[in-house]
Amino acid sequence: MSIQANITGNYSESAQYPSAAVNITNHCNLQCRHCFVFREGNPNEAPASIRDEMADDVMLDTLEKLRDRHQIKQMLWMGGEPMLKPKLLKKGVRLFQQNTITTNGTAPLIDFGEDLLYVISMDGPEDLNDAIRGDGVYRKVLGNIEHLPPDFGSQVQVQTVVTRRNHQRMEELVSSIMQTRVGWMTFSFMVPKNGELDNPDVWGTNEERVEAVQTIMELKRKYPRFIRNSMRHLELMMPPYAERVTSTCPALQSVLSLYLEGDHFTTPFCCYGNDVDCARCGAWVVFHRADRMERAGLVDWESETQGG
Ligand code: SF4
Ligand code: SF4
Repeated sequence: MSIQANITGNYSESAQYPSAAVNITNHCNLQCRHCFVFREGNPNEAPASIRDEMADDVMLDTLEKLRDRHQIKQMLWMGGEPMLKPKLLKKGVRLFQQNTITTNGTAPLIDFGEDLLYVISMDGPEDLNDAIRGDGVYRKVLGNIEHLPPDFGSQVQVQTVVTRRNHQRMEELVSSIMQTRVGWMTFSFMVPKNGELDNPDVWGTNEERVEAVQTIMELKRKYPRFIRNSMRHLELMMPPYAERVTSTCPALQSVLSLYLEGDHFTTPFCCYGNDVDCARCGAWVVFHRADRMERAGLVDWESETQGG
């Protein structure tokens, strides 16, 4: 079989990508308000039936070949909703050393063992979450978490996208999730489209975002173990660091992003798609990697000469 990937965007055939993110289906049972996968301009074309998407064996073969070509160690399984393809996941997670499945949590989780991490997306306390993700979704997700068997081995975390409208009520969500079997939470911030200003969920500038970042910092001080964003991660989201970080995006060179488009994969500009405003990006992966690079002595974000 040949590699079913139409290589575009920021891709180099000879590059090493320690991590990759793959959309294994463009079908989803939800229609979240802030979904970046289904934004106009991103590769997300889907046939009417999920059965007519790229066949499992073709997809697995392509991923295996890309793994070997780029020495990919970590795979982030995404969609659409990846749990709609459990058979493919069962085989796919055997291909990579580390696996993370990012899910909306509405389908029961499968125990893939302790080396696998589920990242469940939730966007606030029940009313806010359901206004974004749909009626009844909050309870459905918490129900699925509650019903995990006692010996469920895979790790489970919740990730929340912080927006201009939900940041003030994050503590309510943290308090609820702390009562469950979820191990920890992380916070990512909205990644706006280029020039997007008319969306009530996005901030016009990083200066305007500071208050929301400080809110999450307060939560970090209060729940230091449960919230996994480091304090430096959050600090780097503030001016002047944020611009330095995003102008040399640490995710761009290290994450191979594979979007599903018809019968092949397409690499978009970055893992958030094609139409993104880097200057206002608040993605977890970007600031997490920026923090790790600084700890490893590879970069000094204090220096004004960092960045492009
Ligand atoms: S669950 Fe995920 S993929 Fe589905 S609509 Fe929501 S954000 Fe998009
Ligand atoms: S800064 Fe954000 S939007 Fe820009 S390339 Fe990196 S992940 Fe994508």
